[in-house]
Amino acid sequence: MKNGNAERTVGRTVSYGPEETREIAGELARELSDGAVLALHGDLGAGKTCFVQGLARACGVDQPVTSPTFTLINEYRGRRRVYHIDLYRIADPEELRDLGWEQYMEPDGITVVEWAERAADAFPGTAIHIRFDYGKEPEERILCFDRGGAPCSR
Ligand code: ADP
Ligand code: MG
Repeated sequence: MKNGNAERTVGRTVSYGPEETREIAGELARELSDGAVLALHGDLGAGKTCFVQGLARACGVDQPVTSPTFTLINEYRGRRRVYHIDLYRIADPEELRDLGWEQYMEPDGITVVEWAERAADAFPGTAIHIRFDYGKEPEERILCFDRGGAPCSR
């Protein structure tokens, strides 16, 4: 394992409800070591925040997890630290510098970033990219895992 990222992070998985998405995230979290960076891609309502909730729960976080839309970053402390960034409102990639982006790319815990497509070039090659898509059923979501570069071609 390198840079805290698990090896089993390539492929596609289907979720049939929010709790299942939280469980998928929890399973992944248990395989990650500190230093891991997760880049979440996908439209509004695709399940990114839901995934972060499961990730944080598996890290022993008991604070409520919601999108840090106005603050850009939420920091949770459980058994391990989780840095939750949402780039939805970022207008200019220059703003990343003001956030202290570099330090979050080498976290003393896990960093998870929603709307990663807004800053796709700013992630280290070791980041795990996850693309969320709607499926055919109302509660179906397709999660596609990839490392580095483009997040899963469809
Ligand atoms: P995002 O952060 O991508 O905008 P959220 O996680 O905030 O999305 O919202 C996802 C919405 O979709 C929630 O209302 C959730 O209950 C619903 N949902 C339905 N099915 C799923 C699923 N399989 N996985 C995740 N969320 C789901
Ligand atoms: Mg969200």
